[in-house]
Amino acid sequence: MTVTETFESLYGHAPDGVWAAPGRVNLIGEHTDYNDGFVMPFALPHTAVAAVRRRDDGVLRLHSADVEGAPVELRVDELTPSGGWTDYVAGVAWALRDAGHTVGGADVHIESTVPTGAGLSSSAALEVVTALALCELYELGLQRWQLARLCQRAENVFVGAPTGIMDQTASACCTDGHALFLDTRDLAQRQVPFDLAAHGLCLLVVDTQVKHAHSDGEYGKRRAGCETGADRLGVTALRDIPYEDLDAALDRLDDAEVRRLVRHIVTENRRVERVIDLLAAGDVRAIGPLLTEGHASLRDDFRISCPELDLAVDTALSAGALGARMTGGGFGGSAIVLVEAASAETVSKALRAAFETAGFRAPRVFTATPAPGARRVS
Ligand code: ADP
Ligand code: MG
Repeated sequence: MTVTETFESLYGHAPDGVWAAPGRVNLIGEHTDYNDGFVMPFALPHTAVAAVRRRDDGVLRLHSADVEGAPVELRVDELTPSGGWTDYVAGVAWALRDAGHTVGGADVHIESTVPTGAGLSSSAALEVVTALALCELYELGLQRWQLARLCQRAENVFVGAPTGIMDQTASACCTDGHALFLDTRDLAQRQVPFDLAAHGLCLLVVDTQVKHAHSDGEYGKRRAGCETGADRLGVTALRDIPYEDLDAALDRLDDAEVRRLVRHIVTENRRVERVIDLLAAGDVRAIGPLLTEGHASLRDDFRISCPELDLAVDTALSAGALGARMTGGGFGGSAIVLVEAASAETVSKALRAAFETAGFRAPRVFTATPAPGARRVS
């Protein structure tokens, strides 16, 4: 059945429209988005698709193909978090209303191909597809970056996950064939052409299919540690420490853990800038070592990698990859691997073999090409 047909069988009438919003991978710039820093994600072809019909009685009915059972029924003027998946959708309606926008009810059916909990932002895809549909159906006239901000607020306040602005902006604002350079301080954006195939290259995503317990708490700790660092250094955010001043800044910090966090953020921002320069110069292969450096920094300084991610990176590099790193929040999820297109199969095979030898669950490996951001599909 199509999304529309399923919607009709659930709700007994046709949707007003169908919208899609993608998951993302982050090429470079990890954990910098809550430090006012730089990130560079691109949209995946995997999307959350939502069939939605406006309702003027204030009732919100939510259904996902991935969740058993009948639609969950809520009232838009009484939204409170439930702790379940519907918070990602209801939270967007809540955030829009809380910002003063006139949003009423809706019937919603969602089908997503974004793997959940894989560090590929299935949560942002869900939020952004909801925001775009409600924005159009209630004629709110909001811009993409504004929708991203409201979705972030939904995730931070309603869902209760203290995430930065990257995921939602990527899903809302990415464009086909480009990576999105985003300055998370002022949300200034630049679409950077990222056509790997034209250079005989390809980017593999390796979903380790593991998510380690306590990852949310660890995320919060890193975030708090970065804030401590900024505080001690007397800056608004770690973004304000120029790379040239890193050594002097580190000398002023006595806490070894804070020092490591600061070093990751400052060097990572620098890596994003270098990747931008290399892509502008058409020297795509040269970004490989920067990805690998980024992984070492996340593993050793930020300490958010895990055995599966390290194995993915090490194996890919030994099998001839140009660069590799974990992507997303860490403690599991996915790694990305830059390879010559001709070696993609060899590297994929090596990854599967290494995971089997290590006794790890088989990874899901797929090729990622920059896809379009959120859009109306019908
Ligand atoms: P990620 O964003 O990396 O995939 P998160 O933990 O941030 O991981 O978000 C995953 C959560 O989002 C799931 O646990 C679920 O609550 C919700 N979610 C994502 N996609 C769907 C879907 N298709 N149907 C229902 N809930 C979903
Ligand atoms: Mg998420």
